[in-house]
Amino acid sequence: MSDYDFDLFVIGGGSGGVRAARLAAGLGKRVAIAEEYRFGGTCVIRGCVPKKLFVYASQFPEHFEDAAGYGWHVGERRFSWPDLIAAKDKEIGRLEGLYRKGLENAGAEILESRAEIIGPHRLRLNASGQEVTAEKILIAVGGAPNPHPEMPGSELCISSNEAFHLEELPKSIAITGGGYIAVEFANIFNGLGVETTLIYRGPEILRGFDMDMRTNLREAMEKKGIRVVCRDTILDVSQAADGRLKAETKQGHVFNVDKVMMALGRLPNTKSLGLESIGVETDAKGAIVVDDYSRTNVDYVYALGDVTDRVQLTPVAIHEAMCFIETEYKDNPTKPDHDLIATAVFSQPEIGTVGLPEDVAAERYDELEVYLAKFRPMKATLSGRDEKTVMKLIVNAADRKVVGAHILGHEAGEMAQLIGVALKGGCTKDDFDRTMAVHPTATEELVTMYAPSYRLKNGERA
Ligand code: NDP
Repeated sequence: MSDYDFDLFVIGGGSGGVRAARLAAGLGKRVAIAEEYRFGGTCVIRGCVPKKLFVYASQFPEHFEDAAGYGWHVGERRFSWPDLIAAKDKEIGRLEGLYRKGLENAGAEILESRAEIIGPHRLRLNASGQEVTAEKILIAVGGAPNPHPEMPGSELCISSNEAFHLEELPKSIAITGGGYIAVEFANIFNGLGVETTLIYRGPEILRGFDMDMRTNLREAMEKKGIRVVCRDTILDVSQAADGRLKAETKQGHVFNVDKVMMALGRLPNTKSLGLESIGVETDAKGAIVVDDYSRTNVDYVYALGDVTDRVQLTPVAIHEAMCFIETEYKDNPTKPDHDLIATAVFSQPEIGTVGLPEDVAAERYDELEVYLAKFRPMKATLSGRDEKTVMKLIVNAADRKVVGAHILGHEAGEMAQLIGVALKGGCTKDDFDRTMAVHPTATEELVTMYAPSYRLKNGERA
């Protein structure tokens, strides 16, 4: 047994930290995990999980409308924001309890405190002032919304953190940003009946995603009533006399709204952690620099999850934690595999995607076959809803490998999970063609697009 108080000290009780602490403790290591706020981290407490609950809540008005086409006539409807918040908080409390229980059952010591590194192998718990030592330190403190302090009036704006706890539902909101959070919340607020404007600096929302997904989603959002303003950005927010906020943009638009939400990316939580006391290297954004095994430049300090700014996704942090355990405690050096990560944007409709967007694939491969289908989902036939599902497969003509799969439509996130397995397994288009369709589903389109919609040679349509 080492002379340290703990074999492993984990800073941060989010998805990555909790998984690492639980697994290490389960292996008999003496583990402590410090969390200053609530166990579960961004994902559980103020991210993926409450967001998805909000998404469900925001979809009911469409369900009620669609019901009529199926013979159901829904009576009076009334939405209570406080009831939603209370139900959401109860569920989040339950999940937090599960996270704690998992740690306790594994034998990890739970420390409800901020922890700071104060010297080699040495940490201080801010709540009590107690100092402890650890053989290894794992930093998994995540990130926080970019507060964009250089923008006048940024202190008047909310981020996704506050969006989960608003005392009342605003009547109108302007959201700035064009990434996951901006797009998802624009759909949530719009679905709940809030007059919603999305302001994004680029030419099309969701940079980095396949262009067919981006344009079709933006059009669908506009049809639902969201005002999407591209090539623009909020320059100034001020308090108006009527108590509302006035957001002025670069293009000269003025939006008078109840709330302005900033969703301009997230920054690593590396301030005041004491990293400089032992010389842990960070990059220009403040993210901890790690090697392929989540090792920092200090040999007993490791970091994983959003604080390393590799891929800011919960399952990635969990995967990195499991690789850390394999490498450090099971004598099985394992690098996290960041290739072909399936992901979803919980917009309405959803985007589910894995692999390369068409423009990136076109740069990487000489010749591509692109299979593209756009169709009305079956449910919309009787409901009469004007909506489209879009499915796209991108195939490297040289070896027939499917290098990108992109879906816009209901449950696209669920589909992305499964098609992610197919791409990870290296499936070719011929494997897709040989797969029997499941009928009647939307997904069957993925295995019945027999002829390419078009080909690209050296990036040009052939
Ligand atoms: P993103 O990185 O997805 O998007 C940030 C957006 O802000 C981009 O549109 C970016 O524009 C814009 N932006 C950045 N700086 C400025 C600026 N100075 N002025 C104007 N616009 C700016 O971050 P999010 O905050 O949406 O989400 C953070 C991370 O959380 C994501 O990367 C994602 O990994 C994760 N997440 C995942 C979810 C999921 O899996 N469903 C859901 C929510 C979050 P540009 O594109 O032009 O750079």
